[in-house]
Amino acid sequence: MKLIDTHCHLYLEEFDADREEMVLASQTSGIDTILLPNVDATTIERMHALCERHPNFAYPMMGLHPTSVKQNYVAELKKIESQLNTRSYCAIGEIGIDLYWDKTYLAEQKLVFEEQLRWSIDKDLPVAIHTRDAFPEVFDSIHKVGKDKLRGVFHSFSGTEADLAEVKRLQGFKLGINGVVTFKNSGLAEVLKHATIDDIVLETDAPYLAPVPYRGKRNDPVYIWKTAEKLASVFQLTLEETVFRTRKNALKLFKIVNKAI
Ligand SMILES: [Zn+2]
Repeated sequence: MKLIDTHCHLYLEEFDADREEMVLASQTSGIDTILLPNVDATTIERMHALCERHPNFAYPMMGLHPTSVKQNYVAELKKIESQLNTRSYCAIGEIGIDLYWDKTYLAEQKLVFEEQLRWSIDKDLPVAIHTRDAFPEVFDSIHKVGKDKLRGVFHSFSGTEADLAEVKRLQGFKLGINGVVTFKNSGLAEVLKHATIDDIVLETDAPYLAPVPYRGKRNDPVYIWKTAEKLASVFQLTLEETVFRTRKNALKLFKIVNKAI
């Protein structure tokens, strides 16, 4: 089995002590590709460094995370944009709107999100969207910029049945499913009964959101197998089929060079 983790922050300092061990453990377990979403100007260098050490395994995205949108957003966005012509990226990400932590910069978050959605159209790349307490705002921006020209993933999807229906209506978008689906109180497994395996890509969001039985600990990339097992039981598929079909969805969506199904 070859599995793709479509959202992993393995370059963050949480992994400074054992990053190479984590890479090796991932590869040994059957993970052959990890996609790295950028956060802001401070994370670019370490993310690129990891990709250079492990080409054909780690692939970068480029984008400005909504919780990093502050007063200096114009300068920050310029730094991110200047990277786009320097190398190839598998997606624009992670981008979006987050109203859970702070609503102060809602107007700026929207501007920055929509600008990056337009980049994805110009570059013909998918987007990895972070949305927290902000589904209406995110849907609104997608429609404003042009839903038919956009494609991507709702990373860490944990919305309601109505949110799921709205995502499906967009057509070009997948659900990024991680450890949250294993949390008893999330209700996500129930919501996903209204989706199919072809709507889904697998992710960890490591070091965050470790699945049960590791909930609350650092999320190691290999724990993605727990999420895959849970999805297999939700859709009553074998683990092999779950891994194969989510991989196929990821390869179709993201620009991952040198990878075959
Ligand atoms: Zn993330």
